[in-house]
Amino acid sequence: KPRLYSGMQPSADSLQIGNYIGALMQWRDLQLAYDAFFSVVDLHAITVAQDPEHLREKTRRTAAQYIAAGIEPSKSTLYVQSHVRAHAELAWILSTITGFGEAGRMTQFKDKSQRYGADATSVGLFTYPVLMAADILLYQTDIVPVGDDQKQHVELTRDLAERFNSRFGETFTVPMPVIQKETARIYDLQNPTAKMSKSAETDAGVLWLLDDPAKSAKKIMRAVTDSEGTVRYDRENKPGVSNLLVIYAALTGRQIPALEDEYAGRGYGDFKKGLAEVVVEEFGPVRQRALDMLDDPAELDRVLASNAAKADEVADRTLGDVYDRVGLLRRV
Ligand code: ATP
Ligand code: MG
Repeated sequence: KPRLYSGMQPSADSLQIGNYIGALMQWRDLQLAYDAFFSVVDLHAITVAQDPEHLREKTRRTAAQYIAAGIEPSKSTLYVQSHVRAHAELAWILSTITGFGEAGRMTQFKDKSQRYGADATSVGLFTYPVLMAADILLYQTDIVPVGDDQKQHVELTRDLAERFNSRFGETFTVPMPVIQKETARIYDLQNPTAKMSKSAETDAGVLWLLDDPAKSAKKIMRAVTDSEGTVRYDRENKPGVSNLLVIYAALTGRQIPALEDEYAGRGYGDFKKGLAEVVVEEFGPVRQRALDMLDDPAELDRVLASNAAKADEVADRTLGDVYDRVGLLRRV
């Protein structure tokens, strides 16, 4: 089976609907056809300040949501990034073949460093994409299913793989990003031209997987729209309504024109109520399964440990090759 790698940061207590639609739903389907590795990337999360005790909790919660959303830890390899030491080690090697200017062109860094300010911006945030390249290349990954915000990072990963291969000999598989076009980007409900994010400044625009369903419904009812009053997809002039249509279509598997027809001549209130029902129905069971799992963290920890051992095996093989290729002396 070809290989698949993807991950999410444990940067909040809950995942948001963009993570679910842009990534998890694809993962669930693709895990059947691929030898899939899904990681909770805690080393990435610490590129911005984290409370240590809370980070551990968020890491478990993220893993539980993967499983609750349908990732099967007996078929896929679902593990915590920091449990597999090779990630940090390969990131160092790759950083030595990454250009400073090349890394400086990454838009996620530009966005996030602007948000946090120079003093709160760490070198780790700058080298984040190099660690991500290490994540992917360790597993000889063929495809990387992500939202479009990560496309640039996967392109850098490809460049680094090709550069390493040509400098030191064939070592890495060059991975392909897989981005579902229509759902590549879910926007903030209050600010529908900005990407919805776990680490958004305000809570009102984010739909959380683990939120109380009534709260999610309320957020949808209050989502920013426009004054036209017609349920119609028009990304340019109607970003709020278009975003809600994309969410609606993704969760139901229906086409946007069919939804436009259904809500023709009806107000936004009806449309939002319909969407709220869909979201509550979809998230309800996922939320319950995740919360149940978190009641027994010891069992979850055991699953993560055995999966980390599986990941170690593959990762160590690649890392050993890399050390040899670059000329590091083997310890005997
Ligand atoms: P953070 O704010 O901490 O960066 P995030 O919500 O951006 O959190 P990540 O952990 O960075 O989430 O990304 C996890 C996955 O979810 C990635 O594949 C990313 O492309 C995807 N993703 C994140 N936000 C969205 C979104 N708004 N729409 C579609 N996909 C998204
Ligand atoms: Mg992100």
